[in-house]
Amino acid sequence: MNKNDIYEIQIDDIGNDGEGIGHIADRQNGRCFAVFVKDAIVGDVAEVKIIKVKKSYAYGRLMRLIKPSSHRVEAVCKNARACGGCSLMHMSYERQLRYKLDKVKSCMKRIGGIENADDLCEGIYGMDEPYHFRNKMQFPVGVDKDGNIKIGFYATHTHSIVDLDSCAIAHPVNDYIVKHLRSWLEKWYKQNKNLIYQEESHTGLVRHILTRVGFKTKELMVCLVINGTGLDKSCREELVAAVKAATNEYGNGIKVTGISLNFNTEKTNRILGDTCATVYGQDYITDYIGDVSFRISPLSFYQVNPVQTEKLYSKAIEYADLKGDETVWDLYCGIGTISLSLAGHVKQVYGVEIVPQAIEDAKINAKINNIENATFFCGKAEELVPKFYERQAENTDTALLHPDVIIVDPPRKGCDSVLLDTILKASPDRLVYVSCDPATLARDIKYLGEGGYTPDKIAVYDQFGHSGHVETVVLMSKVNTVKG
Ligand code: SAH
Repeated sequence: MNKNDIYEIQIDDIGNDGEGIGHIADRQNGRCFAVFVKDAIVGDVAEVKIIKVKKSYAYGRLMRLIKPSSHRVEAVCKNARACGGCSLMHMSYERQLRYKLDKVKSCMKRIGGIENADDLCEGIYGMDEPYHFRNKMQFPVGVDKDGNIKIGFYATHTHSIVDLDSCAIAHPVNDYIVKHLRSWLEKWYKQNKNLIYQEESHTGLVRHILTRVGFKTKELMVCLVINGTGLDKSCREELVAAVKAATNEYGNGIKVTGISLNFNTEKTNRILGDTCATVYGQDYITDYIGDVSFRISPLSFYQVNPVQTEKLYSKAIEYADLKGDETVWDLYCGIGTISLSLAGHVKQVYGVEIVPQAIEDAKINAKINNIENATFFCGKAEELVPKFYERQAENTDTALLHPDVIIVDPPRKGCDSVLLDTILKASPDRLVYVSCDPATLARDIKYLGEGGYTPDKIAVYDQFGHSGHVETVVLMSKVNTVKG
C-alpha cells in the first residue's frame, strides 16, 4: 500500500475519535491493513485516498461516497466536516449514542477486564435536544495572509482556524457575540496590526474569545484571552459596547454580567493564562444545578452541558445511596458542584481540587447556599489526600474524616495511583467514579478491583453530542470477604 493509492473500502468499525475504519487485504504479506478514514461511518462504501501508511495500518481521506451508510444524516452545520468540534455530526444521533455506549462497554471489557460489563451497564442517557446545548465556548482568533480576521474552531488535528458564523452546538447567543466581536476586531485591526494573535510568530494580542452562559439565570460572561497586559481604553469601551449590542440583537432575556481579560503570554496550547482582570461588571456568572446556585469564574471548570449534568449528578447521588449520616469525599471537586448538590443528604462532605479559583468559588458557593457541612481544600488530590489520611490515621489531624463514600471526578488522564492506593486504605463502603474518559476509567477500575472493589453499576451519559466524548458513572463497592 502506498500514499496516494485509491481504494474502494467498506467501513466496518469506528475508531476512538469516531472515525470510520475499513480493512484492506495485503495479499503479498498475507495480512490485513486497517484504514482509518475521518468522516466515514460504519456501513459506508467509500472511495478512499491513502494519505499516510504505517506498519500495520493507514490513514485515508474520504474522496467519494459510493454507497452511503443507512446511519448517515445531513450534518446540521455546514462546517461540520472541516471543523474539529463535531466529528460525528453526519451520523444519526441514535447511532452516535450506540457508538458511545459500545465504546464504554468495550473499554470495560478490554482494559478493565470486566466480563459482565453488558449486565452492569444500565444504558446510555442521551439528550432530548442535541443542539445548542453547550454553555461554554472557546473561539480561537486569527488572521489569514490576506488580512481577513478568522474566528471559529481549529480544524481536526491542526491549529488552522475554520472561520464560523454559526455553531449548532453552542448556546445561540454565541453567533451574535462572534458577529459583533468580528466587527469590533476588524475596526481596531485597521488601526493596530498587532491586535490579532499570530500563533506562528507568537505576536499580536487577541488569542481566544471565551463565553459562558448560565442556562437558568441567562447571565452571560465574555472573556478575551490576550497575549499582553491590556487593551487601550477606547478599544475596551467599544468591546463592552459590542458585547451589549450582541445580546441586544439576540434578546431572549440574556444579560451581560461580566466582561474580562485573561492574560496568557506563553507560547503554549493552553488556552487560559493564570490571571484575569474585569473590564465590565463582575468576574463571574451564576447558574443553578437543581436548586443549588453556583458562582463560576472564567478559570474554573464547570460542566459544559447543564441539562445532562443534572441527570449525571442525580445518578452519582443515587449510586452513593446516602442516608444522611455519611461522611463523603468529593475528589476533583471543581467549584463544588457535586459536593454542594449532595450536602443536603449527608453529615459532612469534603472537596479537594487543584485550581485555587475553583476552591474560592466552592467556598463562596457553600456560603451563598447556606451550606455548612461542606469543607474545601486546595491542592493535588494525589498529594493532599494521602497526607491528610496519614495524619488522621496518626490522630494528628481531623481534616478529611473517615469516608463512608468517596466520589472521584478526575480529568481525562484519570486518577493517580498514589490516590487510588489511599482510597483503598481509606476503605469507603462505596466509591462513585465519574469519568470523561472510558479508557482511563477502565484502567483505574481494574486497579481498584485488584484492591478489593468491584463494579456494581455503570451508567453512560451523552454530555458532548456530535463529538466522540462520553461521560460515565460507575458504582463500586467493597467485595465481601467470605469468613471462615
Ligand atoms: N467535579 C467537578 C469537576 C470535574 S473536572 C464537576 O463536575 O464540575 C476535573 C477537575 O479536576 C477540574 O476541576 C480540575 O481542575 C481538577 N483537577 C485536575 N487535576 C487535579 C489534581 N491532580 N488534583 C485535584 N484536582 C485536579
